[in-house]
Amino acid sequence: MQFTVKTRSQTEIIDITDSVQDMLQKSSLEQGLCFVFVPHTTAAVTINESADPSVKSDMLNVINQVIPWEAGYRHMEGNSPAHIKSTLVGASELIAVEKGRLVLGTWQGIFFCEFDGPRTRKVNINLFPFK
Ligand code: ZN
Repeated sequence: MQFTVKTRSQTEIIDITDSVQDMLQKSSLEQGLCFVFVPHTTAAVTINESADPSVKSDMLNVINQVIPWEAGYRHMEGNSPAHIKSTLVGASELIAVEKGRLVLGTWQGIFFCEFDGPRTRKVNINLFPFK
């Protein structure tokens, strides 16, 4: 299964928890694992606090400071920092499913991380039922 995410900025974090849960609902999976995979080299996925939106902007601010846009990179495409951020944050998350729901902590949400936007991005979902 797959859904798309439209990003609006060069770097942006978007809460995709509801989109992933919608995919789960369509599947009728009751118990198992939900594998969330971002098939891009300049984007990523992570899990963190979704209650306070400041967490997302604080994370982006620090990531952008640690990996600046200009730093004498050699990659000709000019988007090396986006590739580096993608690798550091990671391309996938694995989340348990119980009673058809993602098993996340009270404050946790699934974040799509755009590092070279704006673009239309894909998120792949693979479900593994427990028998
Ligand atoms: Zn590149």
